[in-house]
Amino acid sequence: MARRIVESLFSVLFPSDCRICGLPLLNISRLPVCPDCLGTIGPVSGKVCSVCGERVLSAYAETDAEGFPDCPVCRRIERPFERAVAYGSYDGGLRELIHLLKYNEVSPAAGVLGRMLAEALIPLHAALEQGKVLVIPVPLYKGKRRQRGFNQAELIAHAALRASALRDRFELASNILLRTRETRSQIGLTSHQRRENLRGAFAVARAAQVTGRDVLLVDDVYTTGTTVSECSRVLRRAGAARVWVATVARTQKLASKYVELEGFKVSPFQAFNENIELAETPEALKH
Ligand SMILES: [Zn+2]
Ligand SMILES: [Zn+2]
Repeated sequence: MARRIVESLFSVLFPSDCRICGLPLLNISRLPVCPDCLGTIGPVSGKVCSVCGERVLSAYAETDAEGFPDCPVCRRIERPFERAVAYGSYDGGLRELIHLLKYNEVSPAAGVLGRMLAEALIPLHAALEQGKVLVIPVPLYKGKRRQRGFNQAELIAHAALRASALRDRFELASNILLRTRETRSQIGLTSHQRRENLRGAFAVARAAQVTGRDVLLVDDVYTTGTTVSECSRVLRRAGAARVWVATVARTQKLASKYVELEGFKVSPFQAFNENIELAETPEALKH
């Protein structure tokens, strides 16, 4: 009874609901998301491509020289980055949390997302160079940054560094990579259009600072990889030794496409091949 009174008093004084499920929050927290919603967010499960992080089906996974599974796309094309890691799949609570930060200015979400990114970085620890690694957030165009008031990739990178066991080996550098012009949304574009859309959109302001360095490129979401690939190319051209990519979330095309194809009773092998093509279509970008 006493607890209920306190709770109802609390909800009068702090009339806040979980911004994901809408249920009233019972504890004071800077992040207006309930523990249940946060509890649904977890790391990607199962095997993922050792290069791009796409989910791979073990039955069809081939392995590289070191025995890591690679996806068919990474077997066909050479990525301009060494490896891309992501914490979770870009759906459900994680997608909502990223949207809260990006579009609803719920800045405390950056702390949670940063801790997730720090966890995603663990598999890279051994591979990164022994010296200081430059951490570069994917930049926004200055007009957009001004409008939004912050760059979510930068907030997440900052929080991740604070949470990482390797914080002493990372050096955040937000002013080295610039987005030199406005680019339109990548949604609905073909892979060719996406590359055109981003061509020449990024530049390195202080090339001397990246020469010979290991760079960790940070973004909130890896969707098709076009943005981080273009940034990686620009950084490599400016002299970066190696570029690694870390995002909080990643669109997992294979998982969702399988569910859709199951109804058509296509063989897993057909579905797998088909997915590679479908991954390039606008439908695969919508969730
Ligand atoms: Zn909730
Ligand atoms: Zn791959």
